[in-house]
Amino acid sequence: MAPASNCNATLLLLVGLLPISADMDTTLPQSVAAERPIALERLRAAGLRPTRQRVALARLLLENGNRHVTAEQLHSEALAASIPVSLATIYNTLHQFIECGILRELVFEPGRSYFDTNLEDHHHFYCDTTGDLQDIPGEQVTVGRLPQPPAGAEISRIDVIIRIRREPRQNTTLN
Ligand SMILES: [Zn+2]
Repeated sequence: MAPASNCNATLLLLVGLLPISADMDTTLPQSVAAERPIALERLRAAGLRPTRQRVALARLLLENGNRHVTAEQLHSEALAASIPVSLATIYNTLHQFIECGILRELVFEPGRSYFDTNLEDHHHFYCDTTGDLQDIPGEQVTVGRLPQPPAGAEISRIDVIIRIRREPRQNTTLN
């Protein structure tokens, strides 16, 4: 069979740059905004107004290396950091970040989304036992034959999830 398609070459990231409607939060003053460039730069590059709340959440997400978090985890972190925010606002903000390409959403089970700050081409190990997620660099996975997408559609992204499980007594070796 000739058409051995190289998966990496076919991955197209189609991230919609949707206009975000104005929210009621206040825009961050320049003096505060100048402190931490990473979160701010990402917000500005994405065209999102750097409100105090968005910057605070973006810092939690983006200034600790690549992360996979649930909305509930981020909510707990925000409250622990004295950022007064509701879970509904967390969800809204996360989805704004997704629409602007700051995050990717990963759905492993119905009702269980993780938000991924790693935007590089990559896949995941997902541990059914612990719920842990681990990145797999994109080049380590080769997808062979892909089905033809339905008429009028194109493949926007391929997410490979390799499910693993851990034995309860994995660490007790016989040696
Ligand atoms: Zn990831």
